[in-house]
Amino acid sequence: MYVSKLTSARFAELAGKIDTVIIPVGSLEAHGMHCPLGTDNIIPERLCSDLEAKIGADVLIAPALNYGYTPSLMKFPGTITIPAETIISMYTEIACGFVRWGAKYIVFMNGHGGNIAGLTLASDRIAAAGGTALTISWWATYAADIVKICDAQGHAGEDETSAILAIDASLVDDSKRSIHMKKAFCMPLAGPDQIEKRYPGAMSGDSTKATKEKGVAIYAMMLEKNLEYIRRLRAGEHTDPIV
Ligand SMILES: [Zn+2]
Repeated sequence: MYVSKLTSARFAELAGKIDTVIIPVGSLEAHGMHCPLGTDNIIPERLCSDLEAKIGADVLIAPALNYGYTPSLMKFPGTITIPAETIISMYTEIACGFVRWGAKYIVFMNGHGGNIAGLTLASDRIAAAGGTALTISWWATYAADIVKICDAQGHAGEDETSAILAIDASLVDDSKRSIHMKKAFCMPLAGPDQIEKRYPGAMSGDSTKATKEKGVAIYAMMLEKNLEYIRRLRAGEHTDPIV
């Protein structure tokens, strides 16, 4: 259920019964010159709407946090960043607000790499407040499965562009699709020339290989995985064997 659509009285009835709140988090930033600025918001919203259709009665979906931490792409038009301290506080305060109203489990459905450090730090604070926080950063969490569908990943690359095509192909400017097959040799790596090396056109990977069909397959895979992660989160099955 979408929290925004509930009355306060209805929320009070549900808050004691529904223990899981999903918070979509993203960013407004350049995604090549072919994908929309809201790419990192559009994809988590889709992941949440797929969950709403399947288990909407069992989870609360919070309003999305559609601005994130993205200083690296500030040179590209339309990119907006907010300070690291602000996003850590924002994620912490909003999640802890839901914990105060009875949530046990917080799922950050993340669409943007720059948010991961802030989500990690916020999760420690949420844990200290008594909540259990899980971050799903779709392209990273499901990388092993995505590369069975796509040849390679990238920022506005084959996988992310496919994910947008599956939602609305008119959002992608096919005439601006491009290729830049470079990544950092080790992460994290930051420096004054890193954007030119890794994201010269605000993208990486091969967006020319993106298709709607690949995007549909990625969402189908991710829905099953998200359902399983949420089930395990609530069941207390929080570990995997070390191999
Ligand atoms: Zn992105």
